[in-house]
Amino acid sequence: MADPFWETKSLNEMTDAEWESLCDGCGRCCLVLLDETDTGRLYQTNVACKLFDVKKRRCTDYKNRTKRVKDCVQLTPGNSGALDWMPESCAYRRLARGEGLADWHPLITGTKKSVEDAGVAVMSAVSEDSVDPEDIWDYVVAVRPKPRRKRAAAPRRSRARRAASPARR
Ligand code: SF4
Ligand code: SF4
Repeated sequence: MADPFWETKSLNEMTDAEWESLCDGCGRCCLVLLDETDTGRLYQTNVACKLFDVKKRRCTDYKNRTKRVKDCVQLTPGNSGALDWMPESCAYRRLARGEGLADWHPLITGTKKSVEDAGVAVMSAVSEDSVDPEDIWDYVVAVRPKPRRKRAAAPRRSRARRAASPARR
């Protein structure tokens, strides 16, 4: 049997369908992340982007996501290894850093349920529409280590994208 595409192709060489299939649907990049610029610490919240459907773990307007949510960052082969605030489990980040797919990834297991079983999937969250921005720090659930590289202009608050569009190249 031929080796799978994620082991033989670079991110740049993948077809659009292959690229999209790398997303395991964990939804973690659609949770609000607070970036404390003074310390470089990142605070993970359980507040979801207003466009995130928690039950389905999907963006409800994927096509227009970056227009409707200004800090939704589109992943590309060029930036997916450099975005330190992305979840370490993210397939784009892992492949860009030469780490390979996790053994629970749906492309390996054949089922999306393995993402839940591995404890990686977002199982509950509150929508940012129902949270007063003044109270956002009350929703912090974890502190993440300082990224190895600091971004040049780290926004106070960042929130990540889901993967790409055909315009990624
Ligand atoms: S882009 Fe990465 S972090 Fe976001 S849902 Fe897909 S696999 Fe998860
Ligand atoms: S893909 Fe972007 S706009 Fe859509 S739910 Fe996730 S963070 Fe929000």
